[in-house]
Amino acid sequence: MSSWRSFWLYGEIWDVFEGSGFQAKYDVTAKKSGDVKPGHGYFGFDCSACSVRFAVWDDPGAGSKPFTTKRPCVFKVSCPHCKADRLYRTDQVQQFRA
Ligand SMILES: [Zn+2]
Repeated sequence: MSSWRSFWLYGEIWDVFEGSGFQAKYDVTAKKSGDVKPGHGYFGFDCSACSVRFAVWDDPGAGSKPFTTKRPCVFKVSCPHCKADRLYRTDQVQQFRA
């Protein structure tokens, strides 16, 4: 039985997919603004605290392929702008060009 479960974290509600006892959670690091090159494609997140968009991964397809994971998972990442440590789901990944 798999299901989405909501729980409180950092004063916010998070929905986490629970299935087969497997919960993928990854600690990832945002790119520094100096590492983001104008015109290149990136995957990242919109900070849930300050709304700044930041890059986490290079997008080698430069927008041609969406971000996918084999299983639903959550990413823990600190915003490079306001330093807020937050969790993000796969469906919150933003695909953009810097
Ligand atoms: Zn932020």
